[in-house]
Amino acid sequence: MKVITSSNGGLLSAVLFLLFVPSHNSQSQVRRLDQPGPSLQSITRTDSVFDKTILQLVDHVSGKDIRSLIDTLASDSFEGRATGSIGFDKAAHFVAQHFEQSGVIPLGNSYFQKFKIESRTVKSKVFIQNTPSDSIETMNVIGVKPGTTNPDEYVLVTAHLDHLGKTLDSIYPGANDNASGVAVMMTVAEILKNVNTSRSVVFIAFTGEEVGLMGSAFFVTHPPIDLKKIKFMINLDLVGSGSNGIMVQGVDGHDTELAEIKRINQTYFQFEIGTRPNSPNSDQYYFHLLGVPAFFLYAYNGTMPYHSPGDTAEKIDAAVVENVAKFVLMNVWNFTKKGR
Ligand SMILES: [Zn+2]
Repeated sequence: MKVITSSNGGLLSAVLFLLFVPSHNSQSQVRRLDQPGPSLQSITRTDSVFDKTILQLVDHVSGKDIRSLIDTLASDSFEGRATGSIGFDKAAHFVAQHFEQSGVIPLGNSYFQKFKIESRTVKSKVFIQNTPSDSIETMNVIGVKPGTTNPDEYVLVTAHLDHLGKTLDSIYPGANDNASGVAVMMTVAEILKNVNTSRSVVFIAFTGEEVGLMGSAFFVTHPPIDLKKIKFMINLDLVGSGSNGIMVQGVDGHDTELAEIKRINQTYFQFEIGTRPNSPNSDQYYFHLLGVPAFFLYAYNGTMPYHSPGDTAEKIDAAVVENVAKFVLMNVWNFTKKGR
């Protein structure tokens, strides 16, 4: 830079300095989803919604622990978790046992909402190879963390547990689709064990998603809770890989809730947030049609093989699942507050 030697040099330098200093307001910072996130308890806020307890708990979310849940769910012993298979039922019991350890109780007398599916109505090729009989029995896994002051109002965290199963020569482990979403949901339940929530939080591992959203369709037609009392729902699917942020699908008609999600993001995370209208591509679909603020979250720009035997647990990015779990926790916590 040219040195200014006139008597006005000081003033000119100051003007030039101001011109060249980058503006902090012109562009907000964006944090990558596959990089370690911030320590939330170090963020100083006067926002009355948040207390130090939840911020400290969120900091305890560990991508490594989530990865080990995914390792189990995607392991060969669960045989690709095809709807109606023994492998799926084993996975369902694994989730129910984890609910119990997390203080998440059954809504009625069982964690399992059982029902039958006609084999001829299903869509998946892999599933049909697994299912010689005309109809099979399967179940959603449902648990609730009862609210303290508003137990009859609900926040839902859901993820489909089923995947494509196996053929004669390969298992489809479905690590990203959707052991990742189930593991994040289980982690949210585990962390919330340590705090009281005003509203109830309902956790659902759906069956039958890959064969046509059958578990969520059964739930909304045989609801064990009043669907009108669902204040917020996050459905997780494909959250194990992706660098560019979080896609929020099902935003149409729910500006208020979307603004809250964006506010939480801006305050604590600064991830890129994409939005899309509702679509029949995961289990939020029927809830959204019924007017529930139901959002499907996925990590976008992921590199995992899709509906392939190559969708394996070792390809899951621990930083991504950790960031998504923290993001979900903060949003769930926000909506458990009365009045939101
Ligand atoms: Zn899926």
